[in-house]
Amino acid sequence: MVAQRTVYLDHSATTPTDPRVVEAMLPYFSEVYGNGSSAHSVGRKAEQAIDDARETIARIFNCNPTEIVFTSGGTESDNLAVRGAAWTARQLGLGHHLITTPIEHSAIGNTIDQLADVMGFERTVLPVSRAGMVDVEEFAAACRNETVFASIMYANNEVGTIEPIPQLAALAHEHNALFHTDAVQAAGQLMLDVQALGIDMLSVSAHKFYGPKGVGALFVREGIDLTPSQSGGSHEDGRRGGTHNTPGIVGMAKALELAYDELETRTAHYQTMRDRLIDGVLSKVSGAHLTGHPEQRLPAHASFVFEEVEGTMLLMHLDLKGVAASSASACKTGNPEPSSVLLALGFPPELAIGSLRLTVGRMTTEADIDYTVETLAETVEKLRRLRAMM
Ligand code: PLP
Repeated sequence: MVAQRTVYLDHSATTPTDPRVVEAMLPYFSEVYGNGSSAHSVGRKAEQAIDDARETIARIFNCNPTEIVFTSGGTESDNLAVRGAAWTARQLGLGHHLITTPIEHSAIGNTIDQLADVMGFERTVLPVSRAGMVDVEEFAAACRNETVFASIMYANNEVGTIEPIPQLAALAHEHNALFHTDAVQAAGQLMLDVQALGIDMLSVSAHKFYGPKGVGALFVREGIDLTPSQSGGSHEDGRRGGTHNTPGIVGMAKALELAYDELETRTAHYQTMRDRLIDGVLSKVSGAHLTGHPEQRLPAHASFVFEEVEGTMLLMHLDLKGVAASSASACKTGNPEPSSVLLALGFPPELAIGSLRLTVGRMTTEADIDYTVETLAETVEKLRRLRAMM
């Protein structure tokens, strides 16, 4: 029997940990096992590794090491930024208005909903264009004196669109509002210089850039007072309680360092693979449409909708052929549910149920792309024939 081919095109969901990262992490599970907060030399070795990691990340973010808070991942970084800033504003009697978009990850969307529903904050959810882009003028019009902060993602996880972060952050500052960006998908593909971006807070998660799962970071600009979401010890300068995940932190710093040392060659490869994929799908699969912005999109990100196909069925059939992808459509009750992001972009529900995301990675080859395009074309036709018979 011929072994089934596996083509992993779901790098936006997670990436394999780089072996060089695993190697860097290994001593911190066993040899250097101390608690970074302990006062003895065993603990100090772990503390030193955490300090070094903080410096590495700060160099890539172009900030001070004291402006980095270690967390358990993107979800926690987002929660800490948004809830922490809102709670502090409430305590200090500042404002009550928050700005966001309908296409944020649920770590932002649900946290802002909770702040509005439970704590009475007022939220403005800005519209986005068909390409998933926030309009700078609409953002300017939404900013008011009572605006506490805006949280707008750097690049979208479902459709790959890159938002005009420097312009949006500058506008927020004109109204003395803070600006947070979720850079979980952008990290490892776009520059993360927080001075050039002009933002106040930025979230990343290591497993999206060939680092380990369960560790992330939040940049918090000097002088911003965040109420901790995870209260406990005085770790992270009182901003996040809990014993440090030393191997994870070391691994995240190593992964980020490698990603930015190799950024040019990696992103050139992603872009070549992504463009081959987009061209192949649009020319060989009938009724296929690219979603997200045609140019302002992540180098590794391709996303589509297919007419008269359900995304969940497509995923299952692709998986049987060895292609690992993802779809934002869900099928919870037997009825396909369209992606809320695509609905926010203005796609009709019957098209939004046919979504597919294919995200390339370091190991993706031309042969992988060609196999995927061929398999996708056959599968889409097969699903349409089955649907016509029902
Ligand atoms: N934000 C975005 C844009 C994401 O894509 C994800 C994960 O997919 C997260 C946040 C959550 O990150 P984590 O998996 O580290 O909690």
